[in-house]
Amino acid sequence: MTATQFTFIFISALLLTTLAKLWLARRHLAHIAAHRDAVPGAFREQIPLSDHQKAADYTSAKTRFAMLGFLFDAALLLVFTVAGGIQFIAGLCHAWFSAPLVQGVTTIVAVLMMSSLLELPFNLYRTFVIEARFGFNKMTLPLYLIDALKSLLVGLILGLPLLLGVLWLMERMGEYWWLYVWSVWVVFNLLILFIYPSFIAPLFNKFTPLQDEAMKARIGALLQKCGFAAGGLFVMDGSKRSAHGNAYFTGFGKTKRIVFFDTLLERLSIEEVEAVLAHELGHFKHRHVMKRIVSTFAMSLGFLWLLDQLMQTNWFYQGLGVTAPSTALALLLFFMTLPIFSFLLHPLLSAYSRKHEFEADAYAVKQTASADLISALVKLYQDNAATLTPDPLHSRFYDSHPPAAVRIARLQAQ
Ligand SMILES: [Zn+2]
Repeated sequence: MTATQFTFIFISALLLTTLAKLWLARRHLAHIAAHRDAVPGAFREQIPLSDHQKAADYTSAKTRFAMLGFLFDAALLLVFTVAGGIQFIAGLCHAWFSAPLVQGVTTIVAVLMMSSLLELPFNLYRTFVIEARFGFNKMTLPLYLIDALKSLLVGLILGLPLLLGVLWLMERMGEYWWLYVWSVWVVFNLLILFIYPSFIAPLFNKFTPLQDEAMKARIGALLQKCGFAAGGLFVMDGSKRSAHGNAYFTGFGKTKRIVFFDTLLERLSIEEVEAVLAHELGHFKHRHVMKRIVSTFAMSLGFLWLLDQLMQTNWFYQGLGVTAPSTALALLLFFMTLPIFSFLLHPLLSAYSRKHEFEADAYAVKQTASADLISALVKLYQDNAATLTPDPLHSRFYDSHPPAAVRIARLQAQ
């Protein structure tokens, strides 16, 4: 292949995925607008029309803004690649530093920092305009900036050694470097999963042991019935940033914790909390987390192998606007352009995730009353202003959770 041919393929793929994203978003908007005037049958009893319309408006506002983001991201990617942005930044780093490893690391960090800075106005608008307009944002600007600074520091402390290690292995390990890098990547991810609950999450949120004795007793009984040993039940101050509610598990082995957002506990009854927890236990029982980790690792092995193949060609670099190939630039170009070429994996990964949600629901209704899970889900949809009428195709493509109506219908049948 020639560089020109690859540039043509890249630009066509970028154009097609951007058009596909815009088309799906338009469909989603049209579907929501067409169903804005009436609450869908199954929810007519529990959800007032005003809430349904708020959900429609909130989802539409987010979708419309995301469309602007698609265009911006596509333009930015073109500027960085074919227009020579990365080549230019790499040139500066080469002029300032002499060691190739330092040149590589600084180029990658500079490009990542620049794109985060350029994305910053979008994130600010999302949080302080859209989320705020619908009453979800609880974040102040100082808190937002402190969060950003902390994330940056954590990212540098964990990411820099990893990046240095990866580039070093890529240079030194010869033909099978990708196997070495993959092993380091696997160990790194497991390490993060292990330290996340105790060391990273507490940097951003307060976790207090669950105090409510009645709830503790109920949850304890459920955990015992399901044969689950938890390292602790915690309440997280999610209300510090957002009014959205959630519950989740983190960690492995002895560090395994169950975390409830304070916003969730405020809104749900004990029975509903139990049902939500039973759903989470379903994920655990079916080893969904493990399965997902294993499939992610398998995919990353495939990607690293592919990167090895591409690195050995000239057209990969030149087609993407880089005239002086290096390992660092290969890594950077590969991971920046990968989302374009792997766009069609979206529906597959979403379907895989929705399958897990159905399995967890099925498990939950064996442990607790299905009516409790249904009413908990309705409350969560209502509080999160999640639309009850997504476009079916849009949902198939992106949704990690089944649409409310489908999910509840299936629970009622069980
Ligand atoms: Zn789930």
